[in-house]
Amino acid sequence: MLDVAIIGAGLAGIHCGQQLQAKGLKVALFDKSRGIGGRLATRRVADQSLDHGLSYWEIGGEHTAALTKKLTALGLLQSWSVATTASVDPKDWQTLVGEHRWMAPDGMTAIAKYLAQDLVIHRGQQLTTLQPMANHWVLTFAQGETVTAKQVVLALPLPQVITLTYSFITVRDRPPEVFYDPALSLMVGYGGLNLDFPWQGLHLTKHPLWRTISREGEKRSPSNMTLVCQTTGSFASAYLDRADLAPVASQLLENLQTLFHLPQPLWWQIHRWRYAIPKNSSGQAYYRFSTSVPLLACGDWCFGHGIEGAIASGLATATFLLDSLNKPTLP
Ligand SMILES: Cc1cc2nc3c(=O)[nH]c(=O)nc-3n(C[C@H](O)[C@H](O)[C@H](O)COP(=O)(O)OP(=O)(O)OC[C@H]3O[C@@H](n4cnc5c(N)ncnc54)[C@H](O)[C@@H]3O)c2cc1C
Repeated sequence: MLDVAIIGAGLAGIHCGQQLQAKGLKVALFDKSRGIGGRLATRRVADQSLDHGLSYWEIGGEHTAALTKKLTALGLLQSWSVATTASVDPKDWQTLVGEHRWMAPDGMTAIAKYLAQDLVIHRGQQLTTLQPMANHWVLTFAQGETVTAKQVVLALPLPQVITLTYSFITVRDRPPEVFYDPALSLMVGYGGLNLDFPWQGLHLTKHPLWRTISREGEKRSPSNMTLVCQTTGSFASAYLDRADLAPVASQLLENLQTLFHLPQPLWWQIHRWRYAIPKNSSGQAYYRFSTSVPLLACGDWCFGHGIEGAIASGLATATFLLDSLNKPTLP
């Protein structure tokens, strides 16, 4: 039996697992995806690696500051310039100066792989039911496996936590509701063209369609003009449940063509993120359900603040579990 089963191998789950394992607990992580990293996501398209989740890395507090130093020294992060503007006029974007941020030369998932290198992670395992027993949990996965654990951490977006705990947690015992902005990530290749701007990434604060535009080819394949463009939450909300995203991709491609005077692309792909960025937070470092066998939930929805918040929440969850193990049990 595991001491702790952690569901979700994103930044929160990995940081939680690292701490618990370092203290000698028998820990395993389970993730429904084939890869690890969650929203730190990289995929291969047209012989290039593209970050279609988190596009660039930035320091949001003490945890990301310390990790940035370490990852930069290891060559897992490199400089990347990102300009931020409220202007929706591409003529204004020509002269914007980028601020110092970081990109992952081997892809964002390489960061997760590095952080999780000593952990046991079962990939392609989607938790479907969680059954409380007298002194442990029984976890059942879509793939048919059953696992027992003394404690469980759900390191998932909050709506996915609610789905898994729906049958045995009353509404009163749920964390406060958190709402998410979805996103559509459009990956598009134009071959050997050149887009000349003094920045590598653009963060648009008032554009009706686009939140970020990344000159992705510059990360790993500078002879290719490849863009990864993420839509705003309000745009994505309108199309999120469409079975076929091809018509919306055409609309987005047309908009890019107009903005940057581009020809037809050589290829494109689109990815939907139902839970991309929390719009609010629960305000607590983690959530402890009032079950007799310990069940906790963590992730970026606890503190907010993206990657910094996800790391902080995973670490705080581990600290709580370790503290509770050190407490003498009551007679
Ligand atoms: C398009 C996009 C842009 C973003 N931009 C920024 C930004 O600019 N700045 C910033 O700070 N943050 C940004 N973020 C958010 C940032 O990536 C997240 O805050 C952070 O990665 C969340 O980590 P997490 O561990 O909490 O959750 P996740 O990374 O979502 O990890 C949860 C994991 O749980 C797994 N899972 C879910 N359900 C199950 C199940 N039933 N069984 C097993 N596994 C399951 C998932 O596969 C996933 O791997 C962005 C995210 C996206 C998608």
